[in-house]
Amino acid sequence: MKDFKKKIFAIILIFIININVTACSVSEKKVDNLNYNNTNITEKNGIFMLGSEVAESDDGYYFCAKTKKPSEFFIAYLDKRTNESMPLCSKINCSHSLENVDEDCDAYIDGEVILGSLFYYDGFLYYINRNTTNYMCSLCRISSDGSEHEWICDLVETPDNGNDYFSYVVYEDYVYCSSSVVNMDNNNTTIIEKINLADKSKETIYSYTAKETEIEELSFYDNKLVFRLSENYDSLASDLYYYDLNKKECKKIDNDVCSYIYVDNNLVYWVCNDGIYESSFDGDKKKIYEITDNTRLGSLVYNGQNIYALNLYDNTTDNIFIARLEKGELIDEFYCFKDAVYIPVYLGNDRIIVETFTAEGTYYAFLLLDEEGKIKDIVITDIKG
Ligand SMILES: [Zn+2]
Repeated sequence: MKDFKKKIFAIILIFIININVTACSVSEKKVDNLNYNNTNITEKNGIFMLGSEVAESDDGYYFCAKTKKPSEFFIAYLDKRTNESMPLCSKINCSHSLENVDEDCDAYIDGEVILGSLFYYDGFLYYINRNTTNYMCSLCRISSDGSEHEWICDLVETPDNGNDYFSYVVYEDYVYCSSSVVNMDNNNTTIIEKINLADKSKETIYSYTAKETEIEELSFYDNKLVFRLSENYDSLASDLYYYDLNKKECKKIDNDVCSYIYVDNNLVYWVCNDGIYESSFDGDKKKIYEITDNTRLGSLVYNGQNIYALNLYDNTTDNIFIARLEKGELIDEFYCFKDAVYIPVYLGNDRIIVETFTAEGTYYAFLLLDEEGKIKDIVITDIKG
C-alpha cells in the first residue's frame, strides 16, 4: 500500500541517520476518543503516508511489531488509559513478552503482514497477510482481545514482493479492497472487490487497466468509495476519484492529488505543486492553502481538532517537517530530523506516533500534543517497529 513511498524514504534515511538517543520522559496520562468518525465514513484515520503499522480503537493502539527473528511479526497493544503496552494475547499462562513472542501466543502472526495494512473496525483488527511459501496475500482479522484469528479470503498471489498494492476499508458487513500487482513491462489491472464478511464471497465491482496502475487510500463516504488512482508507477501523484455504489459509476474529483482527508463532511485534498483545497462532492472547490513547491510527497492527516501536514517536498531531508494547518498557514513546524530521526506514522487525538532509531534498534515513540495541538513532549515506547 504505502510500501513504495516507505522504500524511497528508507533509502533517503540511510544517508542521514546518525544514532542519537533522545531523552525520554513520562507525561500525564490522558484518555482520548475517536470523535472524528462520522457514522457514514470509514477511512484509515490518522495515517501519515509513510507507513501505517498502527491502528486505533476507542481504547488503544495496535502496532505491528517484530520478534527477535527476522521477518516474524506479532501484534502489540497499547492501552490509552494506562499507557501500558503488551502483546495482544488472551492466554493467561503465556510466556510472551515484548521481546519474545512464540508461535503459540495469540499475538503471533503466521506469515508477513503487508506494510500499511493494519486497520481497526468494530471490534476486529484487520490486516493483509502474505504467505511466505506460496506468496498468496489474504485478508485476515483478529478479535480485539487477540483470542480469535480468522482467515477471510485470498486476494492475489504476489511473487514479486514489493510490487503489489492493496488498499481497503471496512464498512458494516463488507470489506472493499483494491489490489494491483504491477508488471513493470505491461499493462496491469487494478480492481476493487466487495467482500461479504458473513459468507466470505467476493465480487469485483470496479476495474481499471493501464500501465503500472494502482489504487491508494481507499475510503468509504456516504455510499461512495473514494480513492486515488495512479498510472506509470507514479503513486506519488495520482488523481482523486469516487465510485458511487448506488449508481455504479466512477467520477474524477481532481488531478494530481497526493493526499486527502475528511473534515466536517468536506473533502480536503492536496494538489501537487498547487495547494490544499476544500470541496463538497458537488464539484465546488476552494483553495485553503497555497503551496507551489514540489509537493508530490505531501500528506494530510486530521485528528478531529487539527489538520497536520507532513511536508516531504524538500529535496534536503533536513527540512522535512510536520506542521499544523491553521487559517491557511502551516504553523508549529516540527522538523523530523533535527535532533534525531522521527518518521511519522500515525496521528491520534493526543499524540503523533513515530518510529525512531536508537542504539538498540527502531522503536515506536510518541510526540505528545498539548491542548492546542502543539508537540509538548517525546516518549519512546518499548515496542520495536
Ligand atoms: Zn501470549
